[in-house]
Amino acid sequence: MEIEPAEEVKEPPRIHRLDESVVNRIAAGEVIQRPVSAVKELVENSLDASSTSISVLVKDGGLKLIQVSDDGHGIRYEDLPILCERHTTSKLSKYEDLQSIKSMGFRGEALASMTYVGHVTVTTITRGQLHGYRVSYRDGVMENEPKACAAVKGTQIVIENLFYNMVARRKTLQNSADDYTKIVDLLSRFAIHHIDVSFSCRKHGAARADVHSVATPSRLNAIRSVYGLSVAQNLIKIEASDNDPSSSVFEMDGFISNSNYVAKKTTMVLFINDRLVECTALKRALEVVYVATLPKASKPFIYMSITLPPEHVDVNVHPTKREVSLLNQEVIVEKIQSVVESVLRNSNESRTFQEQTVEATPSVPSVTNNDLHLSPSPSGSKSQRVPVNKIVRTDSSDPAGRMHAYLYKNPQKYLGRDSSLTTVRSSVRQRRNLKETADLTSIQELINDIDRKCHSGLLDIVRQSTYIGMADDVFALLQHNTHLYLANVVNLRSMSLQG
Ligand code: ADP
Ligand code: MG
Repeated sequence: MEIEPAEEVKEPPRIHRLDESVVNRIAAGEVIQRPVSAVKELVENSLDASSTSISVLVKDGGLKLIQVSDDGHGIRYEDLPILCERHTTSKLSKYEDLQSIKSMGFRGEALASMTYVGHVTVTTITRGQLHGYRVSYRDGVMENEPKACAAVKGTQIVIENLFYNMVARRKTLQNSADDYTKIVDLLSRFAIHHIDVSFSCRKHGAARADVHSVATPSRLNAIRSVYGLSVAQNLIKIEASDNDPSSSVFEMDGFISNSNYVAKKTTMVLFINDRLVECTALKRALEVVYVATLPKASKPFIYMSITLPPEHVDVNVHPTKREVSLLNQEVIVEKIQSVVESVLRNSNESRTFQEQTVEATPSVPSVTNNDLHLSPSPSGSKSQRVPVNKIVRTDSSDPAGRMHAYLYKNPQKYLGRDSSLTTVRSSVRQRRNLKETADLTSIQELINDIDRKCHSGLLDIVRQSTYIGMADDVFALLQHNTHLYLANVVNLRSMSLQG
């Protein structure tokens, strides 16, 4: 009898302890997944430090440089040696504190992680100090003793060469679209929630910031400043709350887009207890409502801030704190969904035609987005860059030379009291040249001649029409009664300049 050869027995591999630096680098890669996650952690630290102004500078999508400067309370000199060690924090001391935590950070991992995957330099000054300190970190420890330096109020943190030691991560990031757009998007979201803080975000070398918000008491102002007029003018305020401990306890307020808003992608800016988070269940539930309620089924814009008792939120469910888990989440989602639905139904019944308006001076300085809402005519946008002495003035109240004459929301303002053509004409002439007298006979003859040739029907259409917007670079859309007209504005303008 033959004995079958026994199957070769594989020895179990030996288990060994990983080197601490490897452990730390693996963990760091989870916390700082991409440049935008580093920016989020740094901005949250600045907000936790009670800053009122936060500016971000980014080079090469964040791989070369991320710099976040704030005017917060700064970091104590004595804390600098352990600042970037793992699990060092000023925000949490015992596990139970997590139940009531209000700050955005609590794990003491963010700064440490950054030093394991990039080169971190901190410059900080605390109140009452004559000078600040600057120190660089590598793998959780200081590279040198903190050096005294000049500093302005607050803290500046610079990360250079992010993922220099993670070849695969750096390659994937370099091949994909750069994180700058994501960073701008992130800052835009923070800017419309923390409206008492001014934010700016700029690409290295760029003269202009892509996000530039100033502190304002009005959320709608902030949204207009960051996302543009086309978003802000199509929003409806929304509120909901519940205070029944057996089902749910929450307060919600926000803005949602109405039926005039058009977008291909949903923008959902959600803050829960002031944390920027994502909640797929809520987002889906609201998208469903939009599809069901609005005929055009455009994707919505939603800004929502939900507050719950801190003990109802588990903030510690995601390595980047991107998601939170809520007590009675389903009930809350359902309640918000039904409020959104009834608000949308009401708004849909009273759908309105939005007239385009032009602000002479925007109340809040400009911001992001390629929103073209303030440049209805090509001459309008170009004139900003023309030297002042070369600008053609079309209206005395607008030295920048925009085509205000065509943009008045309410032409009756001019024509209401005495709508005779002569009055209008003399007021226009006076605005152009104050010294000019209207009593020259030659001018009077010319005017009479024009009056004779004037088409009264057309005059009426132009006078009573409402400006809707530019159809393209040349034609403006005007509405008169139930008719839409295309007016060649370039011709009109050259006529008015010659005339
Ligand atoms: P966490 O935010 O979870 O505490 P971090 O690693 O992000 O952990 O930060 C560690 C600590 O460094 C914070 O607890 C805070 O005390 C301090 N810190 C970080 N950034 C700033 C800042 N911009 N201004 C003041 N203190 C800061
Ligand atoms: Mg933090």
